[in-house]
Amino acid sequence: MCKLCETNPVYEFTNQRKLCKNCFIYWFNKKFLYTLRKYEMIKSEDKIAYENKGDFRGIVLEENLKQFGNRARIELIKNTKKYDKIALSSSLDQESYLFVKSLIENKLSKINDLLPKNKKEIRPLYLFLDKEIKLYAELKKLKYKKTKEKKSEWENFIDKLEESHPEIKQAIIQSYLKIAGRGKKVEGRE
Ligand SMILES: [Zn+2]
Repeated sequence: MCKLCETNPVYEFTNQRKLCKNCFIYWFNKKFLYTLRKYEMIKSEDKIAYENKGDFRGIVLEENLKQFGNRARIELIKNTKKYDKIALSSSLDQESYLFVKSLIENKLSKINDLLPKNKKEIRPLYLFLDKEIKLYAELKKLKYKKTKEKKSEWENFIDKLEESHPEIKQAIIQSYLKIAGRGKKVEGRE
């Protein structure tokens, strides 16, 4: 941990580890790459289209894909014509809401495939909380539309549970991954 983390943290994990601005950005970029690699979301030479509705998730997805594209032999395309993969901007919050809702309504056929080996849709932000994505956008001074998202009853219910069970969204997605039957564990908090 750097000295700045002690004096000027911008983020604290549930295990009380704190990160300063630079360390947080570094952690975010590294975790993004790790997610792409671990779940084999992108192959070299892939043409990648991506979703950007101008919200904080879209802009952070674009920023991270661009950084990745500078290092990897992939092509990023803005329109959605002739692509190999499309990167969607959904977050850990959104995927955990959807999973719980599908479970309780007995509609598991509606959940997303988060382990998209050889699939067209990838979700590189699905291990990041909305608050982490938003903080990244603010720290990097990325411009996005600040519209307030309306939350459903389900979403408020899970947010409420999160206050007393801080890792509940991660736990939900871990359960999803077990049910998906691949036996891969979600990365921990660091
Ligand atoms: Zn630091």
